[in-house]
Amino acid sequence: MIRIEHLHKTYQAGNGDITALNDINLHIEAGEIFGIIGRSGAGKSTLIRTLNLLERPSSGRIFMDNEDITLLDGPRLHQLRREVGMIFQHFNLLSAKTVAANIDWPLKITGKYTQEQRSRRVTELLTLVGLEEQRHKYPAQLSGGQKQRVGIARALANYPRLLLCDEATSALDPETTQAILRLLLDINRKLNLTIVLITHEMQVIRAICDRVAVIDNASIVESGAVADVFLHPQHPVSRKLV
Ligand code: ADP
Repeated sequence: MIRIEHLHKTYQAGNGDITALNDINLHIEAGEIFGIIGRSGAGKSTLIRTLNLLERPSSGRIFMDNEDITLLDGPRLHQLRREVGMIFQHFNLLSAKTVAANIDWPLKITGKYTQEQRSRRVTELLTLVGLEEQRHKYPAQLSGGQKQRVGIARALANYPRLLLCDEATSALDPETTQAILRLLLDINRKLNLTIVLITHEMQVIRAICDRVAVIDNASIVESGAVADVFLHPQHPVSRKLV
């Protein structure tokens, strides 16, 4: 599904260049939940944001179903962004729009659907994330967990082939975190949707990921099946995280 080859990212900063990604190589299989874990500043956000080109790599290639996405621009880039859903730590909802309107937004801007088609899809998504009762509420009237459910519904609206989760449970309490992780697992199984998530919490990896890569100081230092990395962490950073 995704093949990352020799990915590098350098940021130009006032006092010299910062290497955020250094020769990243990864394979992510269709239908799996792939976790990327590392400490703050390791390069996680930069890496996940290259997968929908919110961040352009400095060099290297990213193949998504055999297409090199690093070459995309114009309409094809917009299409890729629709095909790759994303959820965020702080939800990024539109505060002046209702729950239903937030979920409708990505459908509306495609200009591809009738009002009735969109309304049907929004209802379907509200059911999927368990928010039927909240459709007319505004984000400020929701709990953190409910806000993230809206974020998930919105990310799924255009039938993405990949879902990116950027520290999606880091702003939630432990109980809500478990509920959101269960929902993500449920969606992965039900829709066979590939999920890539970044986190600094090993318990998130343990709860739902099939495989994990440990990133430290811009490089992948270890990767493998979650059980293997848990039971036999090889790298000092992995040992510390476990
Ligand atoms: P993480 O998500 O693991 O905390 P990031 O990908 O955000 O790590 O950051 C990796 C490195 O790149 C850090 O040293 C960070 O300060 C730097 N960095 C991230 N974004 C920028 C930017 N826009 N400009 C300059 N440096 C950046």
